[in-house]
Amino acid sequence: MEPVNSAYFFIMLLACSVAILLYRYTITLKRFLNDFVKISKKVSNKEFHSRLETSARGELGKLSRNFNFMMETMANTIEEVEYKHLQLTSVLKSISHGILVLDIDGNIILINDEARKIIKSKCIGNEEGKNIRQVIDFKEILREIEKYIGSKENDSYSLKLEDETVYKLKIDPVYLQNSKNAIIGSIINIENITEIVKLENMRKDFVANVSHELKTPLTSINGFVETLIMNEDLEVSKRNRFLAIIQKESNRLKRLIEDILLLSSIENKDNLVTENIALYNVLKEVYEIVGYIACSKNIELDYCFEDENIKIQANGDYIKQLFLNLIDNAIKYTPEGGKVVVNQFVKNDEIIIEVIDNGVGIPKEDQNKIFQRFYRVDKARSRSVGGTGLGLAITKHIVNSLKGSICVESELGKGSKFIVTIPTKIS
Ligand code: ADP
Repeated sequence: MEPVNSAYFFIMLLACSVAILLYRYTITLKRFLNDFVKISKKVSNKEFHSRLETSARGELGKLSRNFNFMMETMANTIEEVEYKHLQLTSVLKSISHGILVLDIDGNIILINDEARKIIKSKCIGNEEGKNIRQVIDFKEILREIEKYIGSKENDSYSLKLEDETVYKLKIDPVYLQNSKNAIIGSIINIENITEIVKLENMRKDFVANVSHELKTPLTSINGFVETLIMNEDLEVSKRNRFLAIIQKESNRLKRLIEDILLLSSIENKDNLVTENIALYNVLKEVYEIVGYIACSKNIELDYCFEDENIKIQANGDYIKQLFLNLIDNAIKYTPEGGKVVVNQFVKNDEIIIEVIDNGVGIPKEDQNKIFQRFYRVDKARSRSVGGTGLGLAITKHIVNSLKGSICVESELGKGSKFIVTIPTKIS
């Protein structure tokens, strides 16, 4: 072969080899790019666990491995963020108060279900990112929250509505990390404190009532003791009359203190020992105690027990107190010659006890108030018959502790019927 021809042949061979190599490289590159497009599409569809084929040699293999490593790191980070978010939403959901987190423009960053309910959200489930004015339908709360947007101070406010519902709003500013000046929003904690306020008012009323009730007999005792001390030569009849008053008032004090202690022990369920109690036996014991009072007023005391063997799981002293309070009241508020009857029967799996009298009766407007502590229809009458105003409150607490209920039917001047309903099976 001539030298020119062999050079030409060599160049052709080289060109063919380069062309083949280029062709193969182009095919590999195209396959890689196709793969890359497919995987990136999957990633944009949040399939963060998709990976590139890493068998390619050289730079493409390196690029695939780096890409896969980057994807793995990203998938882990996203998983962590999602887990943290899940934790945060679970915590928020479990908080029994309403929690609302706002930015300094009043846009909602976070909100929990309780807050949604309280603020009467106009877009349940889609509040985040929206402004409170678009979301909150509860005008009074919106007005309050608007005052605190961007506030640097911790604050709290009680909002009392016309229907007696009371909300407590507690506002805490959210500071940018490590900065005591840059506020990025506020956390608003909304709590329905209606029950707490009611209980607190009841406690205040109770303390005021107890003090008043204790003060009255004490003042009287004090006055008569002073008179006796200052007048040593007082006539015997007067002295005896004063001593009788002192005795009566100190008995009243004793009864009051006993009733207050009993009420508090029922409320706190102190030493509550229960046993299987035969109601009929308790009634007979109570009749022995009150029998002589009824007799002295010539009141006929009767009973009609459907089942004399009926028993309930309860505290014996409480059941005795329940019968005693109702029957004692029936005798106290029935004039001489009247009649008091106790009925017992079972209806719809419930034990019914009725205490019926034909006494003075209770006006309609007082009928649901008489179960309140210290409420008396006629204060003077109650005092004169030795009442403390706590008997029915104690009875109601006892009935409640048995998961039962008590009500009264009464007509002024004709008599009253107290109806106690107790489930036959007390859980
Ligand atoms: P009290 O110690 O004054 O009797 P209670 O709590 O037992 O207190 O009763 C509250 C009020 O309910 C009484 O003061 C009385 O006015 C009224 N009351 C209770 N039982 C009767 C009844 N059987 N008949 C008429 N009034 C009653």
